Amino acid sequence: MTVAASGARILDGEKVAAAMRAETASLVRAFVGEGRQGPRLDVILAGENPASLIYVRNKARAAEEVGILAEVHRLPAGATEGELLDLIASLNASDDVDGILVQMPLPDGIDPRKAIFAVDPAKDVDGFHPANSGRLWAGEDVLAPCTPSGIMELLDREGIRVEGREAVVIGRSEIVGKPMAALLLRRHATVTICHSRTADLALVCSRAEILVAAVGKAALVTGDFIRRGAVVIDVGMNRVTDPEEASRLFDGDPGRIEQVRSKGHTLVGDVHPAQARRKAGALTPVPGGVGPLTIAALLRNTMTAARARRGRR
Ligand code: NAD
Repeated sequence: MTVAASGARILDGEKVAAAMRAETASLVRAFVGEGRQGPRLDVILAGENPASLIYVRNKARAAEEVGILAEVHRLPAGATEGELLDLIASLNASDDVDGILVQMPLPDGIDPRKAIFAVDPAKDVDGFHPANSGRLWAGEDVLAPCTPSGIMELLDREGIRVEGREAVVIGRSEIVGKPMAALLLRRHATVTICHSRTADLALVCSRAEILVAAVGKAALVTGDFIRRGAVVIDVGMNRVTDPEEASRLFDGDPGRIEQVRSKGHTLVGDVHPAQARRKAGALTPVPGGVGPLTIAALLRNTMTAARARRGRR
């Protein structure tokens, strides 16, 4: 954790993620030390989405670094829903496979819900299957979605109290917003979920002691959304391509402006970084906040799934 000159503590997601990965690596070593085959994660990449290609590569590399075997299955952009469902069925049936991840978005013509519903809940390391999301809301031990799980880990390891506090989550997706709310509620926060039709979003958010933004709109959360001293978790990852906009968002930070000029863009979250630094008590940076935690939670889920399925044999 570092303190920005302007105020807010910067919550170092990469540091917490590294600690989580080290713990998973040690659990993997113990599992293999008991004479078992190491955990295996199978990732399905359908189509040619360039961002997905990078995400899948990063997940596979991170898995191998902690001793998890990663297999990537590529399906061409023209693959049918039937082909994808057949592949999922064969991975469900394989005793060697502990975790299955279907990288989103899927090509046009394939219903993502069918793919999610097809994964064996015991191998659903993304935690998206309704059997897992239902169990999450029922307060059961479960493979919970990776981004919200990683965020809870960050809050805990940074010593941020959740119980009894006012938490507001912006976004109601199955991937982030809803499971985030479920995890905060489970830990006894008073939780409000906001979305695209929330009336007076800024007013609702300004009540939050813990504010989580998972929207996908660059710098939507401006200073007036933030209660002074609040903990602000920024899940969004958006590209800014205009150097002047980058300068406004990052208080003239020459590094960011140079990045736009050299790479064509810089990443900004759903939270206005300069305004949040002045008003929040603690803030996750983009990049280097929530992103690494998501991957670390995926690896932990894969180890958990392997132990739950094969640990007692
Ligand atoms: P999504 O598009 O499925 O959901 C967005 C949510 O935001 C919706 O529930 C919608 O109601 C709400 N919303 C849209 N416009 C709004 C507005 N003007 N005011 C209030 N609410 C509004 O997105 P998602 O999958 O939940 O992802 C959200 C963001 O988080 C994206 O930028 C995504 O790239 C990012 N993300 C990052 C990670 C990570 O590891 N860092 C992981 C998952 C998602």
